[in-house]
Amino acid sequence: MELNITCIPGDGIGPEIVAEAKKVLDAVAVKYGHNMKYTDILMGGASIDAYGVPLTDEAIETAKSADAVLMGSIGGDTTTSPWYKLPPNLRPEAGLLGIRKALNLFANLRPALLYEELAGACPLKEEISASGFDMMIMRELTGGLYFGERKTVEENGVLKAIDTLTYDENEIRRIAIKGFDIAMKRRKKVTSVDKANVLDSSRLWRKIVEEVAKDYPEVTLEHMLVDNCAMQLVKDPKQFDVILTENMFGDILSDEASMVTGSIGMLASASLNDTKFGLYEPSHGSAPDIAGKGIANPIATILSAAMMLRYSFDLDREADAIEAAVKKVLKDGWRTVDIMPQEEDERAKVKQVGTVQMGDLICGQI
Ligand code: NAD
Repeated sequence: MELNITCIPGDGIGPEIVAEAKKVLDAVAVKYGHNMKYTDILMGGASIDAYGVPLTDEAIETAKSADAVLMGSIGGDTTTSPWYKLPPNLRPEAGLLGIRKALNLFANLRPALLYEELAGACPLKEEISASGFDMMIMRELTGGLYFGERKTVEENGVLKAIDTLTYDENEIRRIAIKGFDIAMKRRKKVTSVDKANVLDSSRLWRKIVEEVAKDYPEVTLEHMLVDNCAMQLVKDPKQFDVILTENMFGDILSDEASMVTGSIGMLASASLNDTKFGLYEPSHGSAPDIAGKGIANPIATILSAAMMLRYSFDLDREADAIEAAVKKVLKDGWRTVDIMPQEEDERAKVKQVGTVQMGDLICGQI
């Protein structure tokens, strides 16, 4: 199969970790007989330095012509970098918002998976972390409270702020379909999270999700109120497979879910539109504090590449191979600095490696 991939190395550790993800994709290509074609574009600070803007129209066109986009991370040190002296619409993050909009990426996927070998980093009680968890948070990304009309007015000398939360049935249906499609590739359970006891938008959400569920008889659907879900994530996270939710609830719950894994350098993510197209990137930022030192953990980006194979190319076997390779490398005791255990006796049982060595070890397992 021919895979046409646009790469955005970005800033900070971005170029280092994207290089490792490409290396792993190349190993997959050799083993399974695919042809990877990469085209790099600049975004964020790198694009500001080269062109004066965080994202050019040419870069957008290149991304649009690809089958999928693989990104590192963008941005610099927000207190010291000159990029943050620019007006907000010219700062690195404006590039990310711009590309999401241009590519109509409305569905955000963030897996939260606890690896047995890294269970020590999980901040939950041992009796909870011992049984592990593996969930996917599916968040609507372009509607709801963050995109509704807002204003601040003064009424009778009192300031009043108004934000509006709107969803139409089409916006809900398209994300629900994505959620059920993803569940079909996993353990076939969807937990739809809302606040239907209070909000009209949540009651419509529930109605449409139930309609979509009729087309997926193999998938078990349950509804959960958002406050309960926040509690269940720390009480019994293994109950979840796909969590399907709206923009603001998903923003909060996905951060909570990633924190319970305890390992930021391990977390992949994807943003999808209504075709097979997606933008795949690690959940973490550009880590300017460690850029250029060769110590960044490339695993989140490598796992994002695995998600790309699974969701944009339906190459499940190849994605499985990458995920299995990561597990094996961890099992064999290889760690980057961010996932080294804290305790001295535990540290003695594992071996610390840098970015390139971690990429090589994963390739070696493919
Ligand atoms: P960050 O995720 O970059 O770093 C937080 C901490 O985690 C740092 O100590 C860093 O060294 C460490 N870390 C992160 N990724 C790591 C990895 N792969 N391996 C080892 N250690 C890792 O968050 P931040 O410091 O708040 O943000 C830095 C920059 O990244 C900012 O400019 C921010 O706006 C940007 N950012 C970009 C994205 C994106 O491109 N999608 C997302 C978040 C933050």
